[in-house]
Parts: sequence; structure tokens; C-alpha cells
Amino acid sequence: MVLEKLIRRSELADLYDSVVAGRRISDGDCLRLYRSRDITAIGAIANAARERKNGNRASYILNRYLNYSNICILDCQFCEFGKKKRDAETFELTIEQMVERVRNDLRLGVTEVHIVGGLHPSLRFGYYVDMIKALKTLDANLHVKAFTAVEIYHLAWLAKQTMPEVLATLRDAGLDSITGGGAEIFSQRVRDILCKGKETAEQWLDCHRTWHRMGGRSTSTMLYGHVETLEERVDHLRRLRELQDETHGFTGFVPLHFVPDKTELSHIRPASGLDDLRNLAVARIYLDNFDHITGYWIALGLKLAQVSLSFGVDDLHGTIMEEKIFQMAGGADGQQQTREDLERAIREAGRIPIQRDSLYRPIQP
Ligand code: SF4
Repeated sequence: MVLEKLIRRSELADLYDSVVAGRRISDGDCLRLYRSRDITAIGAIANAARERKNGNRASYILNRYLNYSNICILDCQFCEFGKKKRDAETFELTIEQMVERVRNDLRLGVTEVHIVGGLHPSLRFGYYVDMIKALKTLDANLHVKAFTAVEIYHLAWLAKQTMPEVLATLRDAGLDSITGGGAEIFSQRVRDILCKGKETAEQWLDCHRTWHRMGGRSTSTMLYGHVETLEERVDHLRRLRELQDETHGFTGFVPLHFVPDKTELSHIRPASGLDDLRNLAVARIYLDNFDHITGYWIALGLKLAQVSLSFGVDDLHGTIMEEKIFQMAGGADGQQQTREDLERAIREAGRIPIQRDSLYRPIQP
């Protein structure tokens, strides 16, 4: 009641009414939300949107991350994970090593393996196909979610095939989903500063569009808190919302804040906790055709991810087991969580924990 009165007095009251009535908000309204300092009202509007879609439930997944190699031909400014072959901190896993790690995790109940790596200059296309096949042979029910759009284009270059042909070959080998990484911010101005040579926004969107038309699902991301403007964040969300209207293939949205500490952009002040919460809440309000918004605890820390459950978030991602990308950039929030820790965090936030699969369907433990 008190909150309702506060929202009524807020400059954002009309947006609360829109969300409660199930009306879509405009790009201009999205920018108003980003610019507003009324974090209480933003949180309350996002919470109304969240509860309309997902009630009081909050999900998590038992998953494991696996990076096959960090050797990469590109040199994205925000990335500390990618290394050149000559660098000291490189690694490259054999398929047998990957299978062995996942074999152990299956005993712990893991249902999904999430695989990404650098754009390796010399691994053959067959390595990637055999990797997927070997993991599916281990357990046909294991959901293999692998590769960002830029990796798919790299594999197309390696295999001398088109992007759709590569996706079809990987799907036939057992690939279940592609990951949402590499979207960064879609604006070409930002991409020219951060990751020259990486795929364009149009290519990223086209890869996901193609995958969705083949019947596949994927997640989507946004890397924020570096050189982008608020208008560029709105533009990013707009393009995702438009593609989702077209294909309905995104399972969820996972915003990632930039960790500058050990990167070439270490002079940039990282996003604050309030910025993280605002960004999640704005996404929940604007992306009305997305069922799920994830509070990625690796980036937020579990405590802020817990708070985000009242700012539009309905999913805390997963156990993860072995995260390298944020860790190598200077992230300090650990590499794994247990099921018990995730469930406790959700319960303490007043929500009902639900273990989910990769398509966000509940799993009965
Ligand atoms: S972000 Fe990806 S493509 Fe860019 S340098 Fe890092 S590993 Fe390579």
C-alpha cells in the first residue's frame, strides 16, 4: 500500500500503469527509466512485470562451464580471457579431458554443459564436431549449450562452409543450444572501440535468427558499463525485442556488467550496484516478450543477485562449477555455487526456488 502510494507520486506512475495493464513501453520510455533516479519506483514496476510472468518463483540450473581453449586470434579490449599462442597463460583441452570433467559432474546431477572458447587459429572443425558428439555419447540427456555467434562464424571460416551449414552440422552432431555471448553492445561505434574485427550486430542477430528458424533456442546478453551511452543500451534492447517478436527463440536475457580490473580498460569505473539493479529492472520492463531475466551471480555477486530478485529477476543462473572469463578479468565472486547456496539465497529473498532445465522448464529433484 505504501509502495503503491509512492509509485503514484512518482514521475514513472504512467509506466507502472502500462505494465500492470500488460502494455508494451516505447524506446523513449525505456530511456526515461534509464535516466530516472527513482530506483524504488523502477524496482516496483519491474517487480510487477516479473510477478505477472513468473509469480513468486525463482529458478536456477545445475550446470557446468567448460572452456576448451583461451587461445584467440582477436584482441577485444574488454577481454582478459583471450590469449595469443605465445602467451604464458594459455590452455587447450583435449576432447578426452572435456569428457572426463563432465563425467564427474553428471554424478552430481548437472543437466547442462556450457561451452565457449577463443577463436583458435589451428584447431580443425572436426574437433568441435567430435567434442559435441563425445559429450552426447556420455549422456544423451545432457543439454549441450555451446559457442557464441562469433565462434560459429569462425567455424564457418575454418570449415569453408556458410554459417547456416555449420549450424546444421553442429545440430546434427548433438548441439542443443547456442550461447548468448558476444553480443556486447550492438552499436557499431562501441564495437569499433571495444572489439574491432568481431562480428557486427547484424551478423550476431542473423546467427541467432538462423538458429531459431532451425527450431533451436538460445539466450541473449548485453555487456554494459564501459563506453556505451544509455541510448546505445536502449538500441541494444530494441534489437533483441524485435528479433524476439520475429522468432520467439530466446529463452532469456542475461545482462553482464563489464569487469575492468585486469583489462586494457582498467581506467573505467565499473558499474555500481544501483546501475546493475536498474539495468536488470529496465530490461524486465522493456523486454515484454522475454519470459526470463537472469541475475548472473558471477558478475553481481550472490548477495546483489539475491536483491535483484526484487528488481525484475526470476532466475539466478546456475552452479557453473568452473568460470574463467570473469575470473581472469578480475572478478572476485567465486567460480561455483552449490544447489543449497542458490536455494538459500532464493528463499531468503522471499521467493520459491525451482530447479530448471536449459529451456527453463521445472525439474523435479
Ligand atoms: S572476447 Fe572472445 S573473441 Fe574477443 S578476445 Fe576474448 S575470447 Fe577472443
